[in-house]
Amino acid sequence: MKLQIAILPGDGIGPEIMAQTVKALEAVARAFHHELTLCHGLIGGAAIDEKATPLPMETIDMCAACDAILLGAVGGPKWETLEPSLRPERGLLAIRSRFKLFANLRPARVWPELAGATLLRPDISARGVDLLVVRELTGGIYFGKPSGLETRDGRRVGYNTMIYDEDEIRRVARAAFEAARKRRRNVCSVDKANVLDVSRLWREVVHEAHSEYKDVELWDLYVDNAAMQLVRDPSQFDVMLTSNLFGDILSDEASVITGSIGMLPSASLGEGAFGLYEPIHGSAPDIAGQDKANPLAAILSAAMMLLHTFGLEDEARSIENAVAQTLKEGYRTGDLARAGNDVLVSCSEMGRLVAERITAGK
Ligand code: NAD
Repeated sequence: MKLQIAILPGDGIGPEIMAQTVKALEAVARAFHHELTLCHGLIGGAAIDEKATPLPMETIDMCAACDAILLGAVGGPKWETLEPSLRPERGLLAIRSRFKLFANLRPARVWPELAGATLLRPDISARGVDLLVVRELTGGIYFGKPSGLETRDGRRVGYNTMIYDEDEIRRVARAAFEAARKRRRNVCSVDKANVLDVSRLWREVVHEAHSEYKDVELWDLYVDNAAMQLVRDPSQFDVMLTSNLFGDILSDEASVITGSIGMLPSASLGEGAFGLYEPIHGSAPDIAGQDKANPLAAILSAAMMLLHTFGLEDEARSIENAVAQTLKEGYRTGDLARAGNDVLVSCSEMGRLVAERITAGK
């Protein structure tokens, strides 16, 4: 199969972790006989330095010609004094909206090999944590009109509008059901239907969409209860479907309980197979250029890409298995290393170890 991928390393540790991700992808392509075409482009601060904009037109055109985008991270102290509309992070928001990426997928799992890093009580984490938050990304209260700040009767007032139309709900619900079909076929839809009208519509439309996915189990949970259940017993969740605001909070809660920011990938999807894949962490300027970063979140983002954009389940699993095997053998980057039997490795060594295990696993 031909895999044409846009590579946007970005800033800080972005280029280091992306180089390791490319090693892993090349190992997959060799092992499974795929033809890999990688197109490199600029985004974020790197693009500001060369092209005076965080998302140059050449980058957009190049991405549009590819099947998927792999992104490192953007931002850093060098660009923090620029006015907000010119900062590196703008490039990220612009690329998501340019490609209409309305569904954000963030898996959170406790790797058995890293159980010591989780914030959960051992008896809770022992039940296993392996869930996926599917968050609506382009609508809801962050974009709803009217919104504003004004003075009414001499008092300052601030307001936002949580609004969804049925099409916005239906398309993200479908994304959640599709994702569940690649996992354990269980979707928990999160809302506040006991209080909010917009949530009553959310629930109604999610259940209508479910009629096309009867092979997937669907249940509803109020958001306050969902926040509690995530720490009380996260093993009960497979896919959690949420609106923009609820997902912002719950996906951070879900990821922080796993305890290791350098391990968490994400995908942003639109209609069709095209997607943008990136680690959830930032550009980590404090360790940039030192070959210390953990490349596994970026490498696992490539596994998500193989699964969701290309439908290559075995190839995606080969990356995940190689990561698990590398951790099992005790190799750790600095963010994960504890005393004991851990073997401290650099970013580039970690990339090499994973690529070797992909090749050996085939
Ligand atoms: P950060 O995620 O970059 O770093 C937070 C802490 O986690 C740091 O101590 C860092 O060293 C560590 N860390 C992060 N990723 C790591 C990895 N792969 N391996 C080892 N350690 C890792 O968050 P921050 O410090 O708040 O932000 C730094 C810059 O990144 C800012 O300019 C911010 O705007 C930007 N940012 C970008 C994205 C993105 O590109 N998606 C996301 C968040 C922040």
